[in-house]
Amino acid sequence: MDATDANIYLFDAVSNGSLRGVEAALKAGADIDCKYARCEDSRPATLLFHASCMGDVDTARLLLCKGASLVKRSDRSAFAPLHAAAINGKTEVVDLLVQHGATVDIRDGFQNTPLMRACNYNHVDTVRRLIELGARPDLTGGQLQGMRYYKPGTEIGKGENEESLKLVEEARKSKLLRCCNPTCGKPGYRSTGTLKLCGRCKLTRYCSRDCQKQHWSVGHKKCCGHDAYNHDEADPLQQRMADKSHMKHS
Ligand SMILES: [Zn+2]
Ligand SMILES: [Zn+2]
Repeated sequence: MDATDANIYLFDAVSNGSLRGVEAALKAGADIDCKYARCEDSRPATLLFHASCMGDVDTARLLLCKGASLVKRSDRSAFAPLHAAAINGKTEVVDLLVQHGATVDIRDGFQNTPLMRACNYNHVDTVRRLIELGARPDLTGGQLQGMRYYKPGTEIGKGENEESLKLVEEARKSKLLRCCNPTCGKPGYRSTGTLKLCGRCKLTRYCSRDCQKQHWSVGHKKCCGHDAYNHDEADPLQQRMADKSHMKHS
């Protein structure tokens, strides 16, 4: 089997949720981070991205154990796997990805965080879990302004995600943030400096050196410094829209 065949075999195995097939394809030399489009109108994305969309926890776990990237984005909108899980309300996968070191507030091509996306689609459980996992409810700058359901240029969907918005609003008011080591999750207040930011990516925060070390070893090492949104990964149209939404807020 040559490398391309192995990649196709891997894609089929992930689509069918065949763990044995995934193992066999990888053994045959498939690239774990190869990108595929699932259908004609979707843009290429990695297999971990597809498994996250589908909420296939077992396949996602296997891919992560085999070293799949948490920061390689889809061609469309530059979503990371965590955005894919959040948009589809796949809370278990959200949990899994963060346990493996995913940066909880990673931005997509529109500068939205996974929490903004989950809130946008009113996945209440996912919103709750993301907040527990340390997602910041007070971030701005995303195209989904104020975490409201927002379809550019229309009134569509406004007011349809009130339950999620309420959770975000409560979390924002409490001014409480959580340690980004998912096995800890200890609350702290930013103003008192009880949580210290990761000095390198400045996206994750921890209650102690031990928590930082633990999160580093489970996967933050592979994400830290690589989770900033890179313009080269988005379509020209997406880039223009992202630029526009960014400018409005800066
Ligand atoms: Zn901690
Ligand atoms: Zn970091």
